[in-house]
This record gives sequence, structure tokens and C-alpha cells, in this order.
Amino acid sequence: MGKARIMLVDDESVLRIDMREMLLLEGYDVVAEASNGEAAIEQAFAHRPDLIIMDVKMPHMDGLTAGRIIYQKTRIPILVLTAYHQSQLIDDAKAAGIIGYLVKPVTEADLVPAIEMALAQAERLRCLTEEKCVLEAQLQERKLIERAKGLLMQQQGLNEAEAYQRMRRQAMNRQMTLASTAMTILNECQVDGR
Ligand SMILES: [Mg+2]
Repeated sequence: MGKARIMLVDDESVLRIDMREMLLLEGYDVVAEASNGEAAIEQAFAHRPDLIIMDVKMPHMDGLTAGRIIYQKTRIPILVLTAYHQSQLIDDAKAAGIIGYLVKPVTEADLVPAIEMALAQAERLRCLTEEKCVLEAQLQERKLIERAKGLLMQQQGLNEAEAYQRMRRQAMNRQMTLASTAMTILNECQVDGR
């Protein structure tokens, strides 16, 4: 796996410098920096980092608002930086799709595990989403095939096996998938029925 590309957002430049040094030392790539929420959104869209480490209290736009916007559009995982531990903040952070948080002052000992956990968690979420999409698509295809089969049985007086056979033959002849063939059959019947 390559070096994770990280974006740093904090209104205190001294803090960014410290963090950047730590990150570089640990072998991460710091691809962008910003000092407020608005700039963070711009930079996130421009650089598409693997992870964003973002302060909460910042001028112009706070980190949670920016985080919510960035996460909704990009699904980039965000670790928030906070100077204090507040339960309200944690609730807001969850709603914004924030994957974790770090309490300032951040030490190297905290930083690396938090980053690695966040990256692993984001990867898991991505896999789950993809898996869910594949399963949903398969289910839709099966439904289409069932509907087309039912239609063939009804209109052509075929039994289930015959209807399925006909659909398979048609798919092979037209070099189409079974699902696209089912779609074609359903469309043709709709046209005929008009
Ligand atoms: Mg701040």
C-alpha cells in the first residue's frame, strides 16, 4: 500500500507545522493544507486526499460544517481535532460522518493509530457499500428475469422451464446477458400492449 495522502486543516499555523512534521516523519504524504472550513472544502475537492485531519473551531466555517459537506460529496474520511472533550461535539461529529477524533495537543503516539484506524474503517465502509450495491443490482436483475419469465409463460402458454429456456436461447443468440434479455422482453411486451 502506498503512503496515505493527508490534508491538514487548522486555523493555527504553528499547529499545522507541528502536525505536518509528525506526519512526514511517519511516512505520510501531506497533499494540502487549509486554515478554515471554506478553504478546506475547496482543497478537498481539488486534491481528493485519502484522509482529512480537521480542527473544529475555525473562523469563517467550522470544521464540522465543512466536514459534513465534504463527506457528503466525497466520502473522504475525516478525523476532527478538538481542544476539549464534549459529548455534544461527538454527537455532531457522528452526524457529519466524522470517522474519529483527536484531542489536542496531539502526540505522535495518538496520531498514527488514529490515522490507521480511520483509514481501515473508511476502507471497510467502502467495501460494505460496494458489496451492498452489487447485491442490490443482483436482486434487481433476478426480479427482472422473474417478471420476464412470468410474462412469457402467460403470453406464450409456456411452462416455467420452457420460458426460462427461451429467454436463455434469446440471450445467447443476441449475445446479451439474461437480465438485458429480460428487460428487452418486458419492453417489447409493453410496446405490444399499447
Ligand atoms: Mg482552531
